[in-house]
Amino acid sequence: MEKKGILLVVSGFSGAGKGTLMRELLRQHENYALSISATTRAPREGEEEGREYFFKTREEFEEMIAREELIEYACYVGNYYGTPRAYVEEQLEQGRDVVLEIEIQGARKVKERFPDTVLLFVSPPSAQELRRRLTDRGTEKPEVIESRLARAAEEAEGIEDYDYFVINDDLNVCVEHVHRIIECERSRTCRGGERIRAIRGELKAFSK
Ligand code: 5GP
Repeated sequence: MEKKGILLVVSGFSGAGKGTLMRELLRQHENYALSISATTRAPREGEEEGREYFFKTREEFEEMIAREELIEYACYVGNYYGTPRAYVEEQLEQGRDVVLEIEIQGARKVKERFPDTVLLFVSPPSAQELRRRLTDRGTEKPEVIESRLARAAEEAEGIEDYDYFVINDDLNVCVEHVHRIIECERSRTCRGGERIRAIRGELKAFSK
């Protein structure tokens, strides 16, 4: 059975509003499933085990790596982050479109392993707006904000590795934009193998 979901990787500077965007995408459209990552970073205020992340110790995370339980993992600002394999494979098999909200090193690894992954980069309208959103969040120390901004400058160099670049200014406009991209992706000839073969076969049968 060829019917499989689309694997969608969403990256963007920390503070680009990816989390909110993803939550709205899932709330408004039922074809998506969000992968929950594992991380060694400490939970932020209000975050819950198994909802934002699976929070792990370094040792636990390294065991997951050794057991090959992660599709990809990366180190980001001093912590490990990785995508658990089982959930992603199961949801794709069921035909759901699976969203990974991961940073750029992870995005590249996923695209290498699964070339038909759609890579989408989300950006705030300006760098000034990015700084404002990070500061307003109020959950990070100033030096962490500075290191996230420095990391954003590095990540900006890799944007062309992505298939799509989307500005998150008005949330609902952005949600619709992302959803349309996925709907278009579904119609690409490279994803239509079984249906294309079927119509060819039927047409050949007519000419016999
Ligand atoms: P935060 O600490 O702000 O929640 O996330 C920091 C960065 O790690 C974000 O850019 C986020 O997209 C990325 N990230 C979250 N989960 C994963 C993952 O499973 N793999 C990779 N490679 N990056 C992740």
